Amino acid sequence: MNTTLNDDEAKYLLAYINDVLIPSSEEFMKLLANNQVMLHHAFSFNAILAHAIDYMVFLAKKMGAATRIAYIKEFDEKYNVSGAIHISNKFRLLDAINNSFKHVELDKNTSRYKDLIETYGELTFHSLKSNNGKVYFEMPTYKFDYGRVILRPIAVIFDCQLQSTKDVIDFIKGNRKGSFCYESFDNLYEYEPWDAIDRMIDYCNPQCMNCGEYQNCECSSYNYASIKGESKPNTDPKFEFKSVMSEISGTREWST
Ligand SMILES: [Zn+2]
Repeated sequence: MNTTLNDDEAKYLLAYINDVLIPSSEEFMKLLANNQVMLHHAFSFNAILAHAIDYMVFLAKKMGAATRIAYIKEFDEKYNVSGAIHISNKFRLLDAINNSFKHVELDKNTSRYKDLIETYGELTFHSLKSNNGKVYFEMPTYKFDYGRVILRPIAVIFDCQLQSTKDVIDFIKGNRKGSFCYESFDNLYEYEPWDAIDRMIDYCNPQCMNCGEYQNCECSSYNYASIKGESKPNTDPKFEFKSVMSEISGTREWST
């Protein structure tokens, strides 16, 4: 890819991401956290993300990228985020779900979706199912929380404070992206007795990196073809139970 992109083209994507995608993402994350996601929320947010991808493909082509299919495949390789590792084609699946929603049925004969249909089965808008405030991707051999495994990590990738044409160019080339910042415990703690209680609370109630949930993580009930899902707790590798316990007791002694 070459590096040319004019300011107007970059500004369109900047405005779309900052004025439409990010606010919509904040709203969706709240619904996700409160288990209030309904089917129309998932499809609407899916469409908003898919439109951003369409626009990025449009710009990437101007910058010399080959084809839409190749570029979206590259998305999945370049913009991977931690967690949800069993789905390595999140962008392509999101694109396919968006199109199956728009067109009733995907065209099985185009190379755009052929391998996805082979992997998952026939994709239609019924591939997403709502249950108790969660929206699942449910197919014969796959079942997982679509909001948490697909939409949530993709939304985070777009949240990377893009401000200038140069930022947009870097983003399109896959050199800049938002992240969950998992495992960055050094920024969180001072490792002193006064934060021992916080370290213990976090250790006892870790966030799952695959779905973002805490004690309610359902990952072990998910199916990814022959692979069973599993919880992946984000715990501090430096955590030592005994020493943190003794720091907590020490803190208590001081305060009595
Ligand atoms: Zn989980």
